[in-house]
Amino acid sequence: MKKPAALYIHIPFCSHKCLFCSFAIAVGGVYHANEYLNRLEWESSLYKGAHLDSVYFGGGTPSMLSVQQLGKLMMIVKNNFYLNDNCEITLEANPESIDILKARAIKEMGVNRMSLGVQSLDERYLKFLGRRHDPGQATRAYDILRQAGFGNINLDLMFAFPSQTDQELETDVGAIASLASEHLSLYTLTIEPNSRFYTQALKLDDEEKIAGHYQRVCGLLRDHGFGQYEISNFAQEGFQSKHNKNYWLGGRYIGLGWGRTAFLTTGVIGTQGNFRNILMPSSHRRV
Ligand code: SF4
Repeated sequence: MKKPAALYIHIPFCSHKCLFCSFAIAVGGVYHANEYLNRLEWESSLYKGAHLDSVYFGGGTPSMLSVQQLGKLMMIVKNNFYLNDNCEITLEANPESIDILKARAIKEMGVNRMSLGVQSLDERYLKFLGRRHDPGQATRAYDILRQAGFGNINLDLMFAFPSQTDQELETDVGAIASLASEHLSLYTLTIEPNSRFYTQALKLDDEEKIAGHYQRVCGLLRDHGFGQYEISNFAQEGFQSKHNKNYWLGGRYIGLGWGRTAFLTTGVIGTQGNFRNILMPSSHRRV
């Protein structure tokens, strides 16, 4: 497979479940990480020699893995795939699971782009979402990534919290944009089946208000120098994500891991791999 593709590797471990989350995750399952990596190694070998323009380690929380486990993950990729020149390699991190030693190690492994799950710098809304970090931890984690030498950082930004006021929105977006990351991914809070908010029957604000807030966020980010290159992604000049654009343009991708999908030439192949049993013993399953 010389025609380049994007590679997504799902690392499903999380320390807890955020209240809005409906992703395939394994809370408390990180002690299975070595076994999981062995299965990823086997699964990668099925695509051996494929050429890649981008790699994305998503979650879950990839930064929960130890430095040794992250090293093995990178080795699996390098041993099984051909990384094209300027291959974009992104790893997702949560503010509470990154420190300077881990950040430096991730940089040395060859990861050249970090995505930090900030979501908000408003303490009240972070608690509302069930996040484990506070605003101070988020900004410290961002500084740590800079100290480690990362020059390409994405921050996740969420809005449309029930009763969020115009002023709260503007303050939050302004605070996150002022960190001057290279990229921002925007998420509207939605209530998905299988999330805690769904079981709580949480009600969102009306669509007209949310649409107005979306337009406001787009305008604020433009004022901070971010160009919008698709519905929910914004970047400084020269920092649009190759990986995001590949999905957006219907390009080829390979997905590995528990919550994987893949699209090569004939369609989507495979969802929810055979990792379920090793990862989700009933005693650790969370809904
Ligand atoms: S939102 Fe992210 S960190 Fe929170 S539970 Fe879901 S995958 Fe884990």
